[in-house]
Amino acid sequence: MNEIQNPANSMEKIISLCKRRGFVFQGSEIYGGLAGTYDYGPYGVELANNIKAVWWKSMVQGERNIVGLDSAIFTHPKVWEASGHVGGFADPLVECKECNTRSRADHLIEDVGAFADEKMSVEEINKVFDEHRDKIKCVKCGKKNFTEVRYINLLVKSNLGNFASDWAKEPTYLRGETCQGIYLNFKNVLDSSRVKVPFGIAQVGKAFRNEIAPRQYIFRLRELTQMEMQMFVKPEDEMTTYEKWRQKRWQYYLDLGFKEENLKWHEHENLVFYAKAAWDIEYKFPFGFKELEGIHARGDYDLSQHQKFSGKDLSYLDPVTNERYVPHVVETSVGLDRSFLAVVTEFYDEDELGGETRTVLRFPRTLAPIKVAVFPLLKNKPELVAKAEEVFTMLSSQMRAEFDDNGNIGKRYRRQDEIGTPACVTIDFETLEGDTKDTVTVRNRDTGAQERVHISELVSYLMQA
Ligand SMILES: [Zn+2]
Repeated sequence: MNEIQNPANSMEKIISLCKRRGFVFQGSEIYGGLAGTYDYGPYGVELANNIKAVWWKSMVQGERNIVGLDSAIFTHPKVWEASGHVGGFADPLVECKECNTRSRADHLIEDVGAFADEKMSVEEINKVFDEHRDKIKCVKCGKKNFTEVRYINLLVKSNLGNFASDWAKEPTYLRGETCQGIYLNFKNVLDSSRVKVPFGIAQVGKAFRNEIAPRQYIFRLRELTQMEMQMFVKPEDEMTTYEKWRQKRWQYYLDLGFKEENLKWHEHENLVFYAKAAWDIEYKFPFGFKELEGIHARGDYDLSQHQKFSGKDLSYLDPVTNERYVPHVVETSVGLDRSFLAVVTEFYDEDELGGETRTVLRFPRTLAPIKVAVFPLLKNKPELVAKAEEVFTMLSSQMRAEFDDNGNIGKRYRRQDEIGTPACVTIDFETLEGDTKDTVTVRNRDTGAQERVHISELVSYLMQA
């Protein structure tokens, strides 16, 4: 059902590289870990910030009618009733009667080649599960003795502002998705900025889900970061806007340097009743094609629900035609953590350079955690070190740079290759005197080629690289 793994960028290799080089650590690791949480290390946080920045640049800076927002993680409990999450944001769970391992019923059904998803009713999914019960094995013990399928709500509850011992009866929820904060602020943004329909609101932030079986590394998390944009449009413009955003979001990955054969469209089999269209962009992760981003035409469901539950008017008065309507929503929604995994997978490579096998992350410059590394050729020559420090100070005021004087040059190159640094600058004896005074060696990550560049031209040279 899923494509065969590419052994060059297998999950094991990616996880090992991410840990070894400080991209991703298991959450609460020294206490044995906390399932469904991961921490981004020194290079991971740089990569994650760069992914967010590229997204923001494309979605907010690059669009005339999209504005940004950063809404609260804790939201009024009614929000999640209105959105349908309290009633319907649930995943199907089965439990192994032999070893008590809990699994997602739809995933187990998919693993034996049949179709199921979390939008099926409890009766429907139990029927499908029963049809395949003789083939479905527990992921832990391999036995085939399961409970019935039941649904578990995914919202994470908290006691925020509630000091009663039975607080769980009236919890405040951590947001299950960032877009609700956008709907809540539709009117505020409309009244306080110069936007007119059609306009969009974009947000990057954390969301929380009580995933039954967090798995596939940072692909399915209990604490995740979303990058979402909701476009508010005139009802009759919904589908043309939708098609436009489908094209844009596909092109976004190509512009980032993704190979087109590693992306594909997937249309949702079961649409929720209010939705007009829902397609996912899937990426070829090491474990097969899986959802990276969703693009959805949601009708007026979201604003209408909040209008109904809050009692506030969320309609829009068109200043030109004097028409009043509740705007329809076109949404693009992508997980930052999934993007991170896709980016590392896409640009992971192994090749041979100078007779040695190496691992290299061929990140585009915009995404690379470190843009340039600066080396004095030798650590024990004060004049080389002083000049290298001078060059480092100059570069680090312009871009994220790293200084390294540890070990031989070859080793320092390998280390930078593994974290995806596009260029390394070496200060050697030629930098100090003669015709070559004030020139440095710049080594290219992808080709290993070296060029001498004058220090005064270094910044513009590196910016173009
Ligand atoms: Zn079991």
